[in-house]
Parts: sequence; C-alpha cells; structure tokens
Amino acid sequence: TEETFKLIKARDKKVAAFLTLDEENALAAAQKADQKGISAENTLAGIPVGIKDNIVTKGLKTTAASKILGNFEPIYNATVVDKLAAAGMINVGKLNLDEFAMGGSTENSAFQKTKNAWDQTKVPGGSSGGSAAAVASGQLLAALGTDTGGSIRQPAAFNGIVGVKPTYGRVSRYGVIAFGSSLDQVGPLTRTVKDNALVLNAISGHDKHDFTSSEREVPDFTAKLDGDIKGMRIGVPKEFMDEGVASDVREAIQQAIATFEKLGATVDEVSLPYSKYGVPVYYIIASSEASSNLQRYDGIRYGFRADDVKNLEDVYVRSRSEGFGDEVKRRIMLGTFSLSAGTYDAYFKKAAQVRTLICRDFDNVFSDYDLILAPTTTSTAFGIGEEINDPIQMYMNDILTIPVNLAGLPGMSLPAGFSKGLPIGMQLIAPQFAEETMYRAGYAFEQ
Ligand code: GLN
Repeated sequence: TEETFKLIKARDKKVAAFLTLDEENALAAAQKADQKGISAENTLAGIPVGIKDNIVTKGLKTTAASKILGNFEPIYNATVVDKLAAAGMINVGKLNLDEFAMGGSTENSAFQKTKNAWDQTKVPGGSSGGSAAAVASGQLLAALGTDTGGSIRQPAAFNGIVGVKPTYGRVSRYGVIAFGSSLDQVGPLTRTVKDNALVLNAISGHDKHDFTSSEREVPDFTAKLDGDIKGMRIGVPKEFMDEGVASDVREAIQQAIATFEKLGATVDEVSLPYSKYGVPVYYIIASSEASSNLQRYDGIRYGFRADDVKNLEDVYVRSRSEGFGDEVKRRIMLGTFSLSAGTYDAYFKKAAQVRTLICRDFDNVFSDYDLILAPTTTSTAFGIGEEINDPIQMYMNDILTIPVNLAGLPGMSLPAGFSKGLPIGMQLIAPQFAEETMYRAGYAFEQ
C-alpha cells in the first residue's frame, strides 16, 4: 500500500485519475491485513484498490464528480465497498468520472479532466475514465467502475485493460449513486482476465439491501480458466462490424476471430437487427430513470445549497441550477419530457417495448451460441475536446455497448490490439449469469 501511494504520487500527475486519496485509513487497513496474513481463501488480502466516486464510502468524500455533492460525506459504505474490505482489499481512494456517470469521456467531471494512459491528448473514455486510467497507468491492479451503457467497457477499451459489466443483479447496487436503475451495474477494471474474475468473486452475490440483486449462487469465476475453449460457439453480429466501425478496429476483431478459431472455437456471423435502435431507446430509458433518481438533490438533504435564497422554491431552483452541470440538466429535461403525461406513450412506453425486442434478438442468438464477439467501440480513443460539444456524436459512441445493458447481459472488454499507439478493445457478451463462459474465453484469448 505504501508502494501504491508512491506510484500514485509519481504517475497520477500525468493522468489525473484520483479525486480523493485516503492514505491514513488505507495504511491502517494494510497493517491489519499484514497481521491477518494471506490464506488460500483471501488471496486479495492487502491488495490496493480504487473506487469510482459514484460509489459511497463511509466518512470519505463521495462526489459523483458533481458540484452538487462536492462536500458530501456518506454515513455508510456501499455493499461492494464492504465486500472488498471483507476480502482484505485496501481502498486507497476515489476515482474521477463523468458527472453522475453521464458521459463517455470523463470530460463531464465538475472537477478535473482525466487523460488517457497511452496518450495524454486523448480522452480516457468514460464514465469510469478515472478507474481505467489509474489501472492502465500502473497505479493500481484493480478498480471498481459502474456501467449503465458502456461506462466500464468503453474506458477499458480506450486504455487497453480488462473491464467487466456483470449480469444485471449479479452485484448489489446498494450505495451506488443511482443513474439508470434498471441498467446500472458495478464491475471490476483490471490488467488481466484472472484478476478481474477474482475481484468479481469478491463483490458478487445477493444483498438484502438491494431487491434487484440475484439470489443465485455465485460460482468461482476463476474455476474455468484453463485455456480450453474447444467447441465453443461464438457469434459475431454483422451489425457490429459494418462501416460505422473504423477499419483498424474491424481488422483487430478479424484477427481475434482467427485466434478464437485456432483455439478450437467455431465463429459465425449472426444478426441482432433491433440493436440499431439501442442508442435512442437507451437515452430515453436512462434519462427517464435519471430524472427520477436525481429528484433527491434538492439543496436540502445532500451537499450543495445555493447562498442567499429567498424561499423554498428558490432553494430548489438555485441549488439545482448551480449544482448540476449541463449534461446532467440535458438528461433531466429529456427524461422528464419522456415521462410526461402527453409524451409517455410515444417515448418512454415505446422505448420500453423496443427494449423487449432488443432482448429477444439476444435470446435468439444465444439459443445457438455460447458467446457473442464484437468490437467494444467504433474507434480508438478520441481527442480531448473533440466531441464534448456534440452530444449526439458522443451518444453514438455507445452503440456497441448499450444493447448489453438494455438486455441485462454480462459483457467484457479486453485488449485486442493497437492502432497508431492506441489500444483497441474487443467485447465478449454472454447470456445472463454466464460470466464464467466470458471469463473462460477471455482467458484463453489472453494466453
Ligand atoms: N456514455 C453513456 C452515457 O452517457 C454510458 C454511461 C454509463 O455507462 N454510465 O449515458
């Protein structure tokens, strides 16, 4: 842990991944871990970890990268934070993100711009850009992120590391600052597939505080990492390999397909015809849920309150106007509109119906295939400042990751090559609760 703080102090200047460090408590926890020692059951004991700053940590500032929570000190830990501590991992601090996890470049943080670990003129992706940059720049072996529409997998792809969004319900959302509650999941960002499986082992499982967390038994996600994927059936959706995807990315995926075939898998082209509606469906559903979830930031109960207010109405209006950034306001307006009496049927209800069609597409493919293989993103990391003023273009970046959230499936991004010095990510998608298949294939590919 001491070494980790040295690394952070030396390397975080370059990428600006951390918002808050917790050195004193981390060193105390490390001392305790030393005293307990390491056994076969607690292989994670004493290993430093970083936490995305939309996951609450008791007594440690948790901002969601928003001015409205700029001075918020939670009075409890998220379940995932307690679980990491129970596994002996040492929380060293909180990592930057797009405000309330809304964005794909970490440029929407109210506090600082995180940079890509490979090229500091490029974005680290988002919204878990801090988590990805901290791991990829060698400050940490593991960090937690959250993924509502791609926020773990896309920054993992942009930084050349492994990022997993588990099945919806695999991991408790208790204490995770809510964005789109039917989509949000916490997951690990790591350097290797095996490390990722170890951290997911630690955070998974039913939680009585989260009724959407599954009661299913949690397997040991490392159990099937033997490199053997002979006979595995993999589908590559043609819609995810069309001209919208940059040629260097498509080439890397073609090479990955060849590698999987060499390893004994069969790879075929498949189709997910409704996935093309994923982006509009997602922005209606996620924004609707966000507009409801963000009602609680009223200037009374949490964090920031505007000064010199005249009356109660003024407290709400001014605190929210000054406390939220532009992207968050855009989503609140879009969501409130979609849920309004006169527009509900045309927007929210329609989006919910198309979501079902997107789910059925995946069911069809998974009746014949074990796994889906696709690029994670349509291009490598883009430049800082390049897309921030064009929300639609920014939203389109998530076209390959969003359908996975809408269907509640597990998805993994792992490195599949490089182009002009920037990493390319490949995505593996499994049926619900089949993370083991995804880890098994990812591990075999990585070897
Ligand atoms: N970029 C997407 C958005 O802005 C996804 C974010 C996320 O997964 N948290 O909503």
